[in-house]
Amino acid sequence: MPDADLVIAGSGLVGLTLACALRHSGLRLLLVDPGHGPAGKSDPRSVALAPGSRHIFEALGVWPRLAGRMAPIRSIHVSERGGFGRVRLEAEEQGMAALGHVIMNRDLEAALWQRINDDPGSLSLLTGTQVQAPENDRDRIRMELLEQQTRRTVSARLLLAADGAGSPLRQAAGLGAEELDYCQVALVATVRASRPHQGQAFERFTPGGPLALLPLPDGRLSLVWSAPSARADTLAPLDDAAFLAELQQAFGYRLGRLLEVNDRGAWPLRLRRARRRRDGRLLLVGNAVCNLHPVAGQGLNLALRDVAGLAEALHEAAQAGQDPALSRELAAWLRAQHRVQQRVTAFTHGLVGLFSNEFPGLRLARNAGLLLLAGLPPLRRGFAGLGMGRHGGGGRLSRGLPLDGDGRD
Ligand SMILES: Cc1cc2nc3c(=O)[nH]c(=O)nc-3n(C[C@H](O)[C@H](O)[C@H](O)COP(=O)(O)OP(=O)(O)OC[C@H]3O[C@@H](n4cnc5c(N)ncnc54)[C@H](O)[C@@H]3O)c2cc1C
Repeated sequence: MPDADLVIAGSGLVGLTLACALRHSGLRLLLVDPGHGPAGKSDPRSVALAPGSRHIFEALGVWPRLAGRMAPIRSIHVSERGGFGRVRLEAEEQGMAALGHVIMNRDLEAALWQRINDDPGSLSLLTGTQVQAPENDRDRIRMELLEQQTRRTVSARLLLAADGAGSPLRQAAGLGAEELDYCQVALVATVRASRPHQGQAFERFTPGGPLALLPLPDGRLSLVWSAPSARADTLAPLDDAAFLAELQQAFGYRLGRLLEVNDRGAWPLRLRRARRRRDGRLLLVGNAVCNLHPVAGQGLNLALRDVAGLAEALHEAAQAGQDPALSRELAAWLRAQHRVQQRVTAFTHGLVGLFSNEFPGLRLARNAGLLLLAGLPPLRRGFAGLGMGRHGGGGRLSRGLPLDGDGRD
């Protein structure tokens, strides 16, 4: 017998969600991360959770624990700096109470940890430990666990590498990745403005890159400002007052005066996709498979649908007594998911390309496009649907239905 059925390497948002979804599947799970849980983590990013992600967290019993920590998005205002086109996407028009919900990554992570700690099921946890040197065998995969200076070998039926965009395990397995540098940096912060946001989100396309302000529950807004690398190098070191002045100029006065900025951070932006996501009994998940530009807020939402469908396939294989790595369910899910991932990547990458190009004809065309969206409700509904992650995939969990035996509150 291998030491575990599944080893999940990485307890970021993706690894945690996967662990949470599978902890009552009957599979013996081991979750491993070099970090030490949520305490002391200072990720300044937030995420706009699409309705499908909401359903996943509802099915996992995590959603009630997010109450008071999220802000609903009631409308999204899309515009181009210096352009004439603009469009407002309204939740009401979509027949929904909210287009999405914004939460700080650290709050979401803390809620997932809490859910797992309260009800671990068949999950064991190893913190302060790295997974290294995966090696496929006929009926198992072996790997080394490195904790400080101590190494030991464990084996599993399947190793799920949720170890982030740089994925050391993807590299160790030689799966390779294609990479496209956007030559942009995402400047992240929380901002306070003189006017209340009233649940409005803003996506403003500027010549240097898109600038998004998303509502947070305490009246602040979460900023993701994608700027060309050289410009970001001058913006990042500015003191708060100078940074706010630059931001005010780029964003304008829709929220009145921008008064305060906190939680500042910076992320270089690249499109990175694994060339293959599977090597025998090693399977990549989350950012290890695909790392997108944040312009459309799709990265984590895509990964959550991926994880939801994967959990269902593994759960079904477990119920049927099959080896999870060799099951038909897993193979079918991999094929379907590849198509979803291609669609979302094309949508996100297309949006970056469309709004990064300063060719005058194109500038005119995209402003006309925004006007067209503003004037045509069915087109607007379709566009909003793509933004809300209606690209397919995700299975039962993304419809809010629990996998059998999941212990809900
Ligand atoms: C600026 C910005 C804004 C974004 N906004 C949005 C948004 O609005 N909506 C959206 O859907 N997405 C958004 N995203 C994307 C989203 O943040 C990511 O998709 C998500 O955080 C990826 O999570 P992950 O768990 O795959 O990786 P990570 O969070 O990177 O976690 C990887 C984990 O693996 C661990 N690890 C590393 N090596 C090993 C090892 N050898 N063994 C074991 N563990 C290991 C690490 O310690 C870490 O805990 C945004 C991204 C950025 C940069």
